[in-house]
Parts: sequence; structure tokens; C-alpha cells
Amino acid sequence: MELQRIKELIREDNLVKFYQCPAWYGNNGIRQQALERDNYECQECKRQGKVSPAQNVHHLKEVKDFPELALVLDNTESVCINCHNKEHKRLEKYIRKKKPKFWNDERW
Ligand SMILES: [Zn+2]
Ligand SMILES: [Zn+2]
Repeated sequence: MELQRIKELIREDNLVKFYQCPAWYGNNGIRQQALERDNYECQECKRQGKVSPAQNVHHLKEVKDFPELALVLDNTESVCINCHNKEHKRLEKYIRKKKPKFWNDERW
């Protein structure tokens, strides 16, 4: 998927299309590569000395903010659903504290 297309999807608030594309979700997509790299284990649990199977692949730098890193393996981490939810709740709180962002032409 082209970077230009990812940016479009962000603007349209339609990133679900990105997460369904073969480059992410395919048999040899980044998601699959991340899971294999991490041995299908949650990396967050691992840091706490626990072993949990990973079901999700999380973007360390969010796609919305760093679309150019959406398909970069180094920007991903395998996580279990629990840790993934926790991570996003943490991010949400952080975002709420910031001033609301508005899209503008300058940004792109
Ligand atoms: Zn976990
Ligand atoms: Zn995530």
C-alpha cells in the first residue's frame, strides 16, 4: 500500500482498510513478520517476565501520527489483547491531555 493511500485513509478516518490490506495482513505481511520475529509472544508481558501468546501487532509510533512507519517492521511489536488495550488506553489519556489536533494542508 502506497504512503499516499495511507494518508488518505487517515484523513477519511478509514484506517481499517489499511489493516485489511495484504501488505499488513497478508501471509507475508508486516503483521505476520512481526509475530514470527517475536515468536508469537507478547513483548510487553515478556518485559514483565511473563509469557503470553500474542494476538495483536501494535505500532510503537501510531499510524495516524507516523504513516510513513506503518509498514516498517521495526515500528511494530507483538502484544496480547490485554497489553494492547492497556497500551491504547494509555495513549488515549495522553492524547486527551494535548490540545485537539486539526488536519490542515500544511501538515501534508
Ligand atoms: Zn501482554
Ligand atoms: Zn496498537
